[in-house]
Amino acid sequence: MKTDFEIAVFAGDGIGPEITAPTVDILRRMAEVSGAYTLSMTYWPAGAAHYANTGDSLPAASMKAARASDAILLSAMGLPDVRYADGTEISPQIDLRKALVLFAGVRPVTIKAGQPTPLNLPAGRDVDFVLVRESTEGLFFTQGRGEVETDEARETLRITRDISEKLFRFSFDLARSRKATGRGPGKVTCVDKANVFRAFAFFREIFDETAKAYPELVADHAYVDATALWMVQKPWDFDVLVTENMFGDILSDLGAGLMGGLGLAPSADIGLDHAVFQPCHGSAPDIAGQGIANPMAMILSAAMMLDWLGLRHDNDAMVRDGARLREAVERVVAEGRALTRDLGGEAGTAVAADAVLDALFVA
Ligand code: NAD
Repeated sequence: MKTDFEIAVFAGDGIGPEITAPTVDILRRMAEVSGAYTLSMTYWPAGAAHYANTGDSLPAASMKAARASDAILLSAMGLPDVRYADGTEISPQIDLRKALVLFAGVRPVTIKAGQPTPLNLPAGRDVDFVLVRESTEGLFFTQGRGEVETDEARETLRITRDISEKLFRFSFDLARSRKATGRGPGKVTCVDKANVFRAFAFFREIFDETAKAYPELVADHAYVDATALWMVQKPWDFDVLVTENMFGDILSDLGAGLMGGLGLAPSADIGLDHAVFQPCHGSAPDIAGQGIANPMAMILSAAMMLDWLGLRHDNDAMVRDGARLREAVERVVAEGRALTRDLGGEAGTAVAADAVLDALFVA
């Protein structure tokens, strides 16, 4: 069992530093109180503001620290007005994803009683599923390299056996651990368009082959268009959904919408050796510097980090703290204790984060 962990922290741009500071405080308090693990959290520079000041968006020392760390906690990066010479935005989070081969984009979708949602859920029905988005290939394979001619444009979708096998194994392992903790029935649904595209028939074939190693779990299939419908009509039916990069990109925003907005949507990008934990939202420059950003998605991402580290290193206390932190946020939101403006309340970032600390350590 491992107990001492190095965390590389990237506070990022816009509201990033405002939501990172209270999240780091909460993690520090949890580690101190637990005594079963230590977190050495070091801030590293990267992002659009750093690029504007220095001409470097992801310094070599930051990349080296990210590689050497046990986990990476990242807020949001990018500012619409700061761009490279080719007009594209600064996005070191995407560079990290590629450099560290973080193929599994994990996007939990949870709706608990009391949580604002556009869905009219039947009484007693909670929603708790995870969307796993392949994050290194698919239709993003030619990102920035698509061919554009006068009357025609082309992008290439790439599915490889190697990454697909890793992605599916990750998804079945996730369903297995969710089943073990009572969070899901043990079902993985491969979301594709295998009825139309050969590449997706190939994707599905690899899924079915991988499923054979998990006879105790249910391996299911669904087309992406039907999945979008069912995410609205019967989202409680899902456990783990696994899909291609572009499909996952679109479905994860649908998931965030179902959860009442980006302010409550956490995420993780996970590979075999590294993982980045960050909220789904961006740097929200329109509200930066005002102390009103919702810190919950960032705090929930930190909870995912504790869970991932604990499972990976046999540290049960960390797994328990990950669940405790997630449940504390869920309780604060469900009870409407300190809702920020995006959730219809008046609380600022500090008040919302303090409410999570109270839920953890007071009542
Ligand atoms: P955004 O997610 O930053 O903001 C969209 C809307 O949601 C805004 O109105 C914003 O105020 C609100 N919002 C977002 N997070 C919030 C929070 N925690 N609390 C309250 N309100 C919140 O998306 P955008 O405006 O399209 O992008 C802004 C910048 O962020 C861009 O430079 C973009 O490239 C970057 N971005 C980064 C990431 C990332 O780092 N993963 C993701 C998306 C966008």
